[in-house]
Amino acid sequence: MADLGNPRNTIEILNKYKFVFQKKFGQNFLIDTHVLDKIIRAAEIGKEDFVLEIGPGIGTLTQYLCENAREVVAVEIDKMLIPILSDTLYSYSNVTVLNEDILKVDLNTLIRERNGGKSVKVVANLPYYITTPIIMELFERHIPLDNVTVMVQKEVADRMQAGPGSKDYGALSLAVQYYAEPYIVANVPPNCFMPRPNVGSAVIRLTPHKEPAIKLKDEALLFRLIRASFNQRRKTLVNGLKNSSELSFTKDAIQNAIIEEGLSENIRGEALTLEQFAGLANRLSALN
Ligand code: SAM
Repeated sequence: MADLGNPRNTIEILNKYKFVFQKKFGQNFLIDTHVLDKIIRAAEIGKEDFVLEIGPGIGTLTQYLCENAREVVAVEIDKMLIPILSDTLYSYSNVTVLNEDILKVDLNTLIRERNGGKSVKVVANLPYYITTPIIMELFERHIPLDNVTVMVQKEVADRMQAGPGSKDYGALSLAVQYYAEPYIVANVPPNCFMPRPNVGSAVIRLTPHKEPAIKLKDEALLFRLIRASFNQRRKTLVNGLKNSSELSFTKDAIQNAIIEEGLSENIRGEALTLEQFAGLANRLSALN
């Protein structure tokens, strides 16, 4: 099958099937061979790899994955794309397309059945409307991962990589960095997609930590503290935590934990590093 990274081939397929783009599914197909090559290189795809692709579209990135990986499973929600994928991926015997919603697939079972539970690479040009739930699902369910290399909205990539003191720093930065090391591989302009999105995009690679980056007594409490701090971003950390419906510590207990952590009483949550949030979570969990 002709390389769909070439826009002429993509247009030919879209016309052949009279394909109508579905905005609700975040459909912006890649039409740039350089970007496709960059994704394959960044994910370090090799012949031993099992790759999970989320949202194959008409199969553009899938073709590149099939050429380079041992096996590819691609999960696509839009049933109109399934006959197109049978056509564009016809010549590959190492790909399976599942017509499912990725958020409803039991990925641990899928990986156990198809890859003996061994770690996989996730590669995708993600549907932007569900970027965060997809990434959080992969990490929170402890899916065995080598790395996750995905196209996301540029602003979301910046948020994943941000540290304290940056305007992009928030709950997503801390959640991603708790589980993985983020690295922005490339910025990608709208003209690399069809149709063009209204926002800039970026390829980001997330490499899960081999050992947990920080030692925690209560992981759920860490995430409650993070959410409470950034829900009320302009408030001091003490007030943010005291006002949260998810937490029931007294003001005194919160203040003591903050001071024992060596932080100022008036500090805002947005100034804390992941390690400081973890320190606070460990001190407060001792009071539970
Ligand atoms: N991979 C293709 C490419 O790069 O040209 C298409 C990428 S497009 C940005 C996102 C794809 O994800 C679309 O094909 C869309 O139909 C699919 N999609 C959207 N929501 C999905 C979901 N919940 N589960 C699986 N696929 C989904």
